[in-house]
Amino acid sequence: MMRILLFSVLFLIGCDNSFNDSNKKNYSATEFEPHWIPYYPTSIDKPNANEFTIVAFPDTQSYHDNNNGQGYILAAQIDWVIDNLSSQNIRHITHVGDMTEDNLIEEWEWFNKQWSRFDGLISYGLSIGNHDYKMRDENDKWIDSLEDASLFQSYFPASRFQNLSWYGGTFKNNTASFQYVDTGFPDIKILSINLQCTPKDDELKWANNVISNHPDYRIMITTHQYLGPIDFPKEKSNISKIPKGRMNWNKCNGKKGNSPEEIFHKLIRKHPNIFLVVSGDQRHTESFVQTSSGNAGNIVHEIMNDIRSGFIRILRFNVVTDEIKAILYTNLPELNTCNKNNKDNISRGCLTDEAHSNFILKGWK
Ligand SMILES: [Zn+2]
Repeated sequence: MMRILLFSVLFLIGCDNSFNDSNKKNYSATEFEPHWIPYYPTSIDKPNANEFTIVAFPDTQSYHDNNNGQGYILAAQIDWVIDNLSSQNIRHITHVGDMTEDNLIEEWEWFNKQWSRFDGLISYGLSIGNHDYKMRDENDKWIDSLEDASLFQSYFPASRFQNLSWYGGTFKNNTASFQYVDTGFPDIKILSINLQCTPKDDELKWANNVISNHPDYRIMITTHQYLGPIDFPKEKSNISKIPKGRMNWNKCNGKKGNSPEEIFHKLIRKHPNIFLVVSGDQRHTESFVQTSSGNAGNIVHEIMNDIRSGFIRILRFNVVTDEIKAILYTNLPELNTCNKNNKDNISRGCLTDEAHSNFILKGWK
């Protein structure tokens, strides 16, 4: 009964596809019944005949050679993915952003050298994070707006991908892009969109058009900042006390950047075929999941992963059970020295809430 009521309320407030403040006031992330359950895998199984895998890379910014001797981590993660493309039936890769820490040429050289190993093997999409923009001007002054992605674009321009069959299209020279995912199942068509960090309206308009032009595809979206402290944490020590969900504040593109909550209202909820939003950016939360509903009553799974001790997110899709197992996996277990009693777990990239670490998402087709 409760669910029917919620659907009705959502339908009523959702009839008008335009974005306005009254819609925003009437809606909160907690209104929809969760469509996920905690999951405690003891190992990473091989997919069965009904399953395929998409891998999401959490923030890689701390793995550059100059950071704490962690330079081998990204290479080792990519080794594992390439070695297991076939055995794990990996069909696509997405990166949630913050590829680099300081947007330095040496970092892009490092990231590009490693990431290029996927070229010719598998489709992928990259989302720009707040650490991937130009941060200081010629006078070494901090640039608040965080919107110049020219270094990213010099390594990953649209021209690098435009002749590839899986590359669907781009907004502003690969600032945003979309890819056709070859799931291996003829009836399952997935389109994956990578948006930049808290994008402006013109990018959301582009994404709205892309989705409207692909009504027979299931749509997944990756964007850097999405789930975390709902309100801006004025003091760092308060971060863990602020309720988590879609954030009401934005890190990138200055005043014109849309907060995650605005992204939801201006884009996500408007399309019945959007089923998944993947994000990163929040190392204090590390991993999170919630369920929302689109205007049509469709289930939208929203997940976050920013765990920096060598973990990748395995998304194991099952076309029969209609479930996605979302598993954090590392092939570098020596880094996983987490212990529930350790107070410095967060700084060492340990998961602090197991219910939100690995989970099964119910309903994606
Ligand atoms: Zn970030």
